[in-house]
Amino acid sequence: MGVGLFDTDLSLNMSTLFISDLHLSPDQAELTQVAVDFLAQQAANIDQLYILGDLFNTWLGDDIVPDEFQPLIEQLIKLQQVGIKSYLMVGNRDFMMGKDFAARCGLTLLQDPTLIKLGQHKVLLMHGDSLCIDDVSYQRYRRWSRNRFLQRCFLMLSANYRQGISDKIKQKSRQQKQYKSAAIMDVNQSEVSRVMAKYQVDYLLHGHTHRPAIHPLGQDQYRVVLGDWQQQPSFIIFDGYQLQLFDSRIADNSDASILTLS
Ligand code: MN
Repeated sequence: MGVGLFDTDLSLNMSTLFISDLHLSPDQAELTQVAVDFLAQQAANIDQLYILGDLFNTWLGDDIVPDEFQPLIEQLIKLQQVGIKSYLMVGNRDFMMGKDFAARCGLTLLQDPTLIKLGQHKVLLMHGDSLCIDDVSYQRYRRWSRNRFLQRCFLMLSANYRQGISDKIKQKSRQQKQYKSAAIMDVNQSEVSRVMAKYQVDYLLHGHTHRPAIHPLGQDQYRVVLGDWQQQPSFIIFDGYQLQLFDSRIADNSDASILTLS
């Protein structure tokens, strides 16, 4: 009785916000402002924030932080100051982000995948790109680009040179996308099953595909997908009981947007 019970009650009321795929870019100042306003507005309601990759559209290294992102950095620091724990997993666009930048913003870096608990349930968090195994050329690029030695070499180059390489990679990716079917660029279902079985979870939450949805997988298993921010903020709130997906492409309070973690 007493303290222990009190703690349990508190944890049940913990509210967690999930976002991903904002793809912020220095030349889209409005979008950065949308993100800043959104986080300022949510700050009163949440205890934790998880950013599941591709916060930024490009990241050339922690030593090259565009001035345009300063309002966002300040907002993330404010979240830390009011006691909100913020976590960040890198995506396929901002995987060069490191501990230096995270520390500056009061963010804790997460591995991909990361296992967390929401209420009584284990939930696996991923960015999502590693699930798209049908996209063979992308997976080859992913392995190559995540090589620590190559990353260190990249970080030794000048800012201009890094920008040039980044532009070339994006250009090539755009060209290839014209020939890739939508199915190839989505997650592979057997890979989803494999990963969920490996981590023994009933809930998988990821972004990357820009296809917001709550997918029932049978036997009380779900794959929950965050959307991108090209139209409007896309986010998930877990209030200690229900997980709700807010996305302009899905009707609010519809069955498709709410998952009760019973
Ligand atoms: Mn992505």
